[in-house]
Amino acid sequence: MDSKVRGILIGRLQPIHKGHIQVIRKILDEVDEIVIGIGSAQLSHELKDPFTAGERIVMVSQVLAEENIDPGRYYIIPMEDINYNALWTAHVKMMTPPFSIVYSGNPLVKQLFIEEGYIVKNPPLYDRLHLSGSEVRRRILEDENWEELLADSTIEIMKEINGVERLKNLSEKEISDM
Ligand code: NAD
Repeated sequence: MDSKVRGILIGRLQPIHKGHIQVIRKILDEVDEIVIGIGSAQLSHELKDPFTAGERIVMVSQVLAEENIDPGRYYIIPMEDINYNALWTAHVKMMTPPFSIVYSGNPLVKQLFIEEGYIVKNPPLYDRLHLSGSEVRRRILEDENWEELLADSTIEIMKEINGVERLKNLSEKEISDM
């Protein structure tokens, strides 16, 4: 199709945090274009997956704008999960521009793409103790300086969509369902 080298990063990005931003920058140092797959696009309004695919697309695109990353260098594509792991790479391939390098720290993602013969790279984890989606969500629930883990634009969107209130309500629902 063309001679651009493309890499793909698939993440639930619930929400995108400063570790994701650093890894996206690192990938863009290595490839011409990055495909950012918003994984588990069908999920939202759950404690582990609070934000919709649409909300996550806006978060990612605003972060990349805030970081002054050339919009010609990335694609943001929502990807629903499918029931069959063995078919998932084909599903991803069908939904995305052609790519040759897969970047992931997720063992299942790596295994599935290695089996299909892709180059799979394990990007460095930046301050993983604090920079993880689960830590962001935990801090939100415990009113504990979650903002320092997110870009300014993501904090703004969290306010617009009442993200903190949503997570707290989901947490109460989970407790009352137990
Ligand atoms: P995630 O948002 O937790 O992480 C995405 C990537 O970000 C990781 O691979 C890691 O490389 C990077 N990252 C995270 N924190 C970082 C940090 N501090 N520093 C540097 N990099 C960091 O997303 P995930 O859970 O790995 O997403 C995988 C997606 O693929 C899920 O949505 C999953 O459901 C989907 N999937 C689906 C199927 C299927 O449908 N059958 C199969 C496999 C995977």
